Amino acid sequence: MDTIQKEKNIALIKDVLRNYLLEKGFRNTPERYTILEEIYSMDHHFNVDDLYLLMLQKKYHVSKATIYNTIEIFLDAGLIRKHQFGEKTLTSSSYEKSYFDKQHDHLVIYKKDSDKEIEEIIEFCDPRIQGIKEAIEEAFGVKIDSHSLYFYGTKND
Ligand SMILES: [Zn+2]
Repeated sequence: MDTIQKEKNIALIKDVLRNYLLEKGFRNTPERYTILEEIYSMDHHFNVDDLYLLMLQKKYHVSKATIYNTIEIFLDAGLIRKHQFGEKTLTSSSYEKSYFDKQHDHLVIYKKDSDKEIEEIIEFCDPRIQGIKEAIEEAFGVKIDSHSLYFYGTKND
């Protein structure tokens, strides 16, 4: 993506956030925009600790509580999406930017012989899933708004 398009996208998501905060009567604090911009400059999934460390590296002093709180706001505003990649209950949540996203699903690969320790997460897009969605909508007379699909496995030798 070129720089001009990137800047346009950042301006657009900032508008989305501004309108959301206004509508909900939340405080319009500058650090929320900084955090949003950091998230949208990332090309991978992240968790709260990753984001916290990233902000520290960039010398922004935000507390973890602020990050948690901001994440909740972004989720509700439709700016990010939440994932639970691990099957173990204590695995922390991961997030990713979602506003410009093409629909995709995730393949979670565990390290072999580990206790479900994640080695890699692969994103894939298979158009057949759209076909399944349409067939289900037709069969049950519903409109599907979203879906959640994860495959878990280990690599072949
Ligand atoms: Zn993803």
